[in-house]
Amino acid sequence: MFTATGDDWADRAAALRLHTRMFIDGEWVEGSAEPLTPISPRDGRRLPEISAASADDVDRAVRSARRAFESGSWSALAPRERGQRLLAFAQRIHDAAEELALTISLEMGKPIREALQTEMRAVVNCLRWYGEAADKILDELPVTAPNSLALVTREPAGVVAAVVPWNFPLTMTAWKLAPALAVGNSVILKPAEHSTYSALRLAELAYESGIPAGVLNVVPGAGHVAGRALGEHTDVDVVTFTGSPEVGRRFLGYSAASNGKRVWPELGGKTASVVLPDADLERAVRATADGCFYNQGQMCTASSRLLVPKAQRDRALELAAEAAMATRPADPFAVSTSMGAIVSEKQLAAIAGFVERAAAEGGEVAAGSADRYEAVKGGSYFAPAVIGVTPTFEVARREVFGPVLSVIAYDDVDDAIAIANGTEFGLAAALWSNDLNAVHTLSRRLRAGVVWVNCFEEGDMTIPFGGVKGSGFGRDKSLHAIDKFTDLKTTWIELA
Ligand code: NAD
Repeated sequence: MFTATGDDWADRAAALRLHTRMFIDGEWVEGSAEPLTPISPRDGRRLPEISAASADDVDRAVRSARRAFESGSWSALAPRERGQRLLAFAQRIHDAAEELALTISLEMGKPIREALQTEMRAVVNCLRWYGEAADKILDELPVTAPNSLALVTREPAGVVAAVVPWNFPLTMTAWKLAPALAVGNSVILKPAEHSTYSALRLAELAYESGIPAGVLNVVPGAGHVAGRALGEHTDVDVVTFTGSPEVGRRFLGYSAASNGKRVWPELGGKTASVVLPDADLERAVRATADGCFYNQGQMCTASSRLLVPKAQRDRALELAAEAAMATRPADPFAVSTSMGAIVSEKQLAAIAGFVERAAAEGGEVAAGSADRYEAVKGGSYFAPAVIGVTPTFEVARREVFGPVLSVIAYDDVDDAIAIANGTEFGLAAALWSNDLNAVHTLSRRLRAGVVWVNCFEEGDMTIPFGGVKGSGFGRDKSLHAIDKFTDLKTTWIELA
């Protein structure tokens, strides 16, 4: 759909017009909380301050969303009409894709090529998909007794709060907005602190596409202020959240302490890539390393654990180290760059800490180190690391959210499954084998929401995405996501 070309992205970034105020009721308004002071991880430069929402500002956004919902300006439109406007929204995003991709690259350090060719493509596809689906979602008419008629209809939940992370800022946003809007809800979006400009521009494009005032409000701000105020608001019906396990659980607590709103948490992961003895080791290791280093390792699905038979462990470590050495961070604004900057200095220090502690625990560091990497002066860069460990190491259990691959040897298949399932998470897993029987039986034993066999990161808008255990229980994408944002109503009619 898109191709990143040219070498003037830095000049274009300097000329970007960035929105810095909240978007409520179709207008740009000042927030009353402490402003956000973003820094570009590309070169450490300060970016324009962003006005941030206080609890009172969040209340204003919720009241606006509720008014819009009750007015029927969106909720009572024919589904076909809502679908058309979502398609118009998708087209505007398509036309502004280069500008949006550059904004993402500037604010969170993703390579411009990936921001444009992967992220913007996903955003446009997602909005188109739900735009096309809007008038194809059917109600039910179950057969009951002859003297009765029971209708099962879907109704929009009402006011939805979407709280999202920065790693795929607009993809995560689209996964929430598109199904919620398609069925008639009003949405309040709380973007992550590191990816607010792109969210604000998206809201403007939505408004220009005919999504009425108040139907999509954006409240930038600190998680513990604006995010918390949404979680605790008694007039929010649904929270859809993607982010860390800690904050996901906080939202469950906010709900319990306020109005018992539905919370859909989609949280972290610790994907195991299990290579069976018959697999093509080289292919499996390359794909696993790519899956671990992609997006600078800042992926909920990052294949951060490579599980190999004991006899193949040394060769796997060597191959993974080669893949790491071949991946060097570089300027996100260069179209040849495949690995960009880490989102912040804080995140960089957290990643380095994992490598340092793994080395201190006795891990075999086959590539990388705890040192920062200088790709662009002043920026936050980290070269991929590969470490030979056992399953009890901290780095093999906790989510790093950086390009750090743990290589772990297993004894037999039962041991491999026990290691793969042995973390608090259950988002995704991968299996590498051509043994049909093994892949079917083992994929059933993996406790994960997604299992990839002889591939990695495959997906489609028709297919749901989400995890089990500590990875949460929400599902994004596909028609299943509609369930999160609708209520089933039954109307029972007795016939004379
Ligand atoms: P985070 O949990 O720190 O922040 C996510 C959002 O929650 C942000 O908008 C933030 O401002 C807000 N927030 C933070 N503290 C809050 C609080 N006390 N109350 C209310 N809101 C608060 O996560 P992050 O660092 O932005 O993203 C990384 C995490 O997201 C990782 O754990 C990653 O695995 C996960 N993730 C999951 C998926 C998935 O689909 N399962 C996809 C992408 C990322």
